[in-house]
Amino acid sequence: MKPESLMMSYGYKPELSEGAVKSPIFMTSTFVFKTAEEGKAFFEIAYGHREQGKTEELGLIYSRINNPNLEIFENRLCLWEGAEDCCVFESGMAAISTVFWEFLRPDDLLLMSSPVYGGTDHFAKKVLPQFGIQIMEFGIHQSKEEIIEMVKKSGLENKLALIYTETPANPTNDLIDISLCKEVAKHFSKPDKEVFVAVDNTYMGPLWQHPLEHGADLVLYSATKYIGGHSDIIAGACLGKKNIMQRVRAMRTFLGNMASPHTGWLLLRSLETLKIRMDTQSANADKIAGYLNHHPKVEKVYYLGNKEHNSPQGRIKAKQCLSNGAMISFDVKGGEKEAFHFLNSLRLIKLAVSLGSTESLAEHPATMTHCDVDPAERQRLSITGKMVRLSVGVENYEDIIADISQALDKI
Ligand SMILES: *Cc1c(COP(=O)(O)O)cnc(C)c1O
Repeated sequence: MKPESLMMSYGYKPELSEGAVKSPIFMTSTFVFKTAEEGKAFFEIAYGHREQGKTEELGLIYSRINNPNLEIFENRLCLWEGAEDCCVFESGMAAISTVFWEFLRPDDLLLMSSPVYGGTDHFAKKVLPQFGIQIMEFGIHQSKEEIIEMVKKSGLENKLALIYTETPANPTNDLIDISLCKEVAKHFSKPDKEVFVAVDNTYMGPLWQHPLEHGADLVLYSATKYIGGHSDIIAGACLGKKNIMQRVRAMRTFLGNMASPHTGWLLLRSLETLKIRMDTQSANADKIAGYLNHHPKVEKVYYLGNKEHNSPQGRIKAKQCLSNGAMISFDVKGGEKEAFHFLNSLRLIKLAVSLGSTESLAEHPATMTHCDVDPAERQRLSITGKMVRLSVGVENYEDIIADISQALDKI
């Protein structure tokens, strides 16, 4: 069956919860063992002291290690991603920082695409160097050979441990080739030190791009965005192969940054409508981009649907994106003043950061989500005063267009 058919039932047995059709919220810190022998066995498996038997189940121990609401959610998200294992976190940044802590050691090199989410950028450039980790960036215009050459020239090729990328990039919808990242990782991997590839897939959600199929070792999400989808929770997730995820899970256990049972329960609610929400959002975005593309007060529209077929960016899109998504940025004619006038005139669309939720949201990247990015780099990436970023929701598209239209008229 398709994932959307399984989101209401997979991994949950009503008979274990008084027949409740929905999983209750398991608000409990600890779980009662039937016998001391059982408790001993659970700990042996949880701590990796021995292999799990074929018919043996890892029982519940303590909610920092496992909890039914988190486990059901993790199993269901694996279905969308085609992943072997998943860990849910209390935020997207918790998932991302846990991967950094687990796969980087002092003196290691982190190779990272640019631009990335502001919080990730800050953590990589301002926090990790305090622990002796070195950072090198690459951009969309660099070929595989150029990236390999850049790493070799730095003299740090033996230190490379992790390649981290975010595609499509926020807010420009620039695309990075995931399989190219894997080829670079393979080039620098040695028998005793594998270089891993991690992809932040937040912009595409688990429906529109499957990084694991293109060679990624780890997929990361801010589940606050499309997965949560209702602007009512902060959460994150990491998915991948069982052996790699074991390391992520162990780090999560000791950092203690797992999501709460209540968050897990809300995420389960959200997964039931993930596909219909995302389908509607991308269909709406297509109509809205079509409208913006021809508006006299709009200078440029940054939308995956606008990538030219035979351009390098168009080829990456054809290879790895299953949809044009529902994120649109556009430049109004003028500058910050005109962009602010537009934002202040919106009625239906809310002026707020975040994305991927049921309601449409608009914001100003240069002074909001990306205000911390170096001004020269911002200019180079086209994140200027005239740019507005739109996250398209599930409202009727004609109403969204009417709101955009009246707000553009106010400029
Ligand atoms: C929001 C976001 C994050 C951070 O997630 P939180 O849930 O806010 O911690 C990371 N990456 C991308 C692309 C995001 O949009």
